[in-house]
Amino acid sequence: MDKLEFLKRELESLREQSLYNEIRTIEGPQGAWIVVNGKRVLNLCSNNYLGFANNAELREASKKAVDEYGVGPGAVRTIAGTQTVHLELERKLASFKHAEACIVLQGGFVANLAVIPTITGDGDIIFSDELNHASIIDGCRLSKARVVRYAHNDVADLRKKIEENKDSARRMLVVTDGVFSMDGDIAPLPDIVDVADEYGAIVMVDDAHGEGVLGDSGRGIVNHFKLEGRVDIEVGTLSKAFGVMGGYVTGSQTLIDYLKQRGRPFLFGTGITAADTAAAIASVDVLTRSDELVRRLWDNARYFQNKLKDAGFDIGGTETPITPVTLGEEKIASAFSRKLFGENIFAQAISYPTVPKGKARIRCMLSAAHEREDLDFAVDAFVRVARELGV
Ligand SMILES: *Cc1c(COP(=O)(O)O)cnc(C)c1O
Repeated sequence: MDKLEFLKRELESLREQSLYNEIRTIEGPQGAWIVVNGKRVLNLCSNNYLGFANNAELREASKKAVDEYGVGPGAVRTIAGTQTVHLELERKLASFKHAEACIVLQGGFVANLAVIPTITGDGDIIFSDELNHASIIDGCRLSKARVVRYAHNDVADLRKKIEENKDSARRMLVVTDGVFSMDGDIAPLPDIVDVADEYGAIVMVDDAHGEGVLGDSGRGIVNHFKLEGRVDIEVGTLSKAFGVMGGYVTGSQTLIDYLKQRGRPFLFGTGITAADTAAAIASVDVLTRSDELVRRLWDNARYFQNKLKDAGFDIGGTETPITPVTLGEEKIASAFSRKLFGENIFAQAISYPTVPKGKARIRCMLSAAHEREDLDFAVDAFVRVARELGV
């Protein structure tokens, strides 16, 4: 008897609903152009905002670290797995983010699991934006705190929810994505901080799509809004704009000291390798030295978005290089993506349940690695495919 038979039925059901995800394989490194299924295609899918995933300086730093530190940390960080590179990265990130201290974790996803259940518990209330990332949702689920969702980016609703619940709360935490990855819109952080201050609530922002993109030299959303010192907890990832792997939290020395004592993924899971750590250090160094790549990313984004708008596409209210091209029907979006692939463009269709029904889209992720000609090539293909599909 196959005890996992039920999973086979689940998979069949996913296929029937067109929700089965065929995972494509990239042959070789990330970049503006990648090889997928033997075909060279323009990459509009990656979070490689600054091209760091295959940057020469980062590659060199990584190789050197292997020679110096070996390939594996050998133990969890609290026992024997903290190497000098880990502390160097934490110091550099804290300084880059203008924060007191930093803890590096295995990923941005893990960072949320390391913070939320560790600093909240029974009697506390977490106010969470309804469109927050899955890792925030899971972090909340691991906490014994009560979770109250507020309407997306709606500070009036946040205030109302706090007002309704504050008397039953021991402590309150407000948590939001900085940049929302499906629409490219930015959280109204100054207003969120004002409301939170009024009620004494802790503020936490997950800046996964903001760092390397927003603020001075890509310092992120807190710097973008000049809110340094007013946001208690910043979560980040090393796997998007920073181009490598891993996650981190910045904040006060007290917060970081506590997470290093009590954050379960830090205590019970081995940290990132020296090679990853050194590459991340190099990415912070490049950004600290120059904002050239960040400016190039934004030039590319504005150029591409203006051309799409001029061609009549609906790119919604994006405020970042994330460019959603809304097409409507799920079937149209997936046909659009397939046809783009036929035109040597790799751009992902995003459908229900990730976005609301009837709001299916192609999401384009811009990068400093793109050339102008690449973007012209992409817009021409979008126009052609739209004509063919009659949208
Ligand atoms: C991508 C993402 C994460 C996960 O980061 P990883 O480093 O890939 O684990 C967490 N939060 C948000 C908002 C993200 O977009």
